[in-house]
Amino acid sequence: MSENKTKCLIIGSGPAGYTAAIYTSRANLSPILYEGLQPGGQLTITTEVENFPGYPEGVTGPQLMEDLRRQAERFGADMRTGIVKSIDFSNRPYVVTIDDGSTVVADTIIVATGASAKYLGLPDEQKYNGLGVSACATCDGFFYRKKTVAVVGGGDTACEEALYLSNLAAKVYMIVRKDHLRASQVMQKRVFDKENIEVLFNTNTVGLFGEEFVEGAHLVENKGTENERLFDIAIDGFFLAIGHKPNTDIVRGHVNLDETGYIKLEGPTSATNIPGIFAAGDVADPRYRQAISAAGMGCRAALDVEKFLAEQE
Ligand code: NDP
Repeated sequence: MSENKTKCLIIGSGPAGYTAAIYTSRANLSPILYEGLQPGGQLTITTEVENFPGYPEGVTGPQLMEDLRRQAERFGADMRTGIVKSIDFSNRPYVVTIDDGSTVVADTIIVATGASAKYLGLPDEQKYNGLGVSACATCDGFFYRKKTVAVVGGGDTACEEALYLSNLAAKVYMIVRKDHLRASQVMQKRVFDKENIEVLFNTNTVGLFGEEFVEGAHLVENKGTENERLFDIAIDGFFLAIGHKPNTDIVRGHVNLDETGYIKLEGPTSATNIPGIFAAGDVADPRYRQAISAAGMGCRAALDVEKFLAEQE
């Protein structure tokens, strides 16, 4: 029977969670880490990571996460499959309930639950979910070989997804609501250099159509102006890449969140408003949202946990 009491429970298995696990296990805190719905986090659904220091040739997202996981395991972190359902905030140590019904008693908690893809909120996204609508090109792109697809968004993620899809699909539209891309210059150049990517600026999606699967999208150009134009494009796949929302369900109502829903940290630390509860990674970072900055936050949270526990003794 595995131990169900720990000095440090880590929730989430992205770069923040695994880095926190490396540091807390090396500090002899015997952390338990719950991997959550998507073991390895968002990076497991990206392709090449070129900007994580230490990999001069680049590394795939899944490989990077596997390396981080193995590094944490080497120092004895207890990695567990499962989803944290709730935290009893009334007393410390905190009693945490897992989806299999078991409980873990934790002196401290590091919330590293990351963020999830946003949708536009159109009823058609639900209707065609899995039938042509996706928020992950690297997961589903394979199904669109030699077909026509659209990617919504103008940030780095949208460019990355469009470029990935352009190597599989015959044609890729990017549907961008402004008259410019928000993405970094290097990504913009790659997109503009690709012959089979067409960027539709000043364009919004109104709806999707298709018998069973997506067959096209209803779009509007220059919405609300005298040049407003409604038109349709024929597509087989519709990919969302319009950003992410922080995964804060298990702490909402207890841990302070900012106006956009991210966990609010106390001063220049990883502490939340609740003693013994810390946060790291995208769930507490509306600004940088990089793998390396999430890993850095995981390190900081682990050091803060160590200090907090030492002060309690
Ligand atoms: P961003 O927030 O940077 O971009 C979101 C994009 O979606 C914007 O173009 C935005 O438009 C658009 N958008 C948002 N809501 C809607 C909507 N309702 N309808 C239509 N369009 C919408 O998110 P990303 O996921 O692209 O990137 C997040 C962070 O991760 C960034 O800091 C980015 O640099 C980084 N990143 C870096 C990568 C790399 O370096 N290789 C790869 C991927 C991400 P608008 O501009 O009008 O607001």
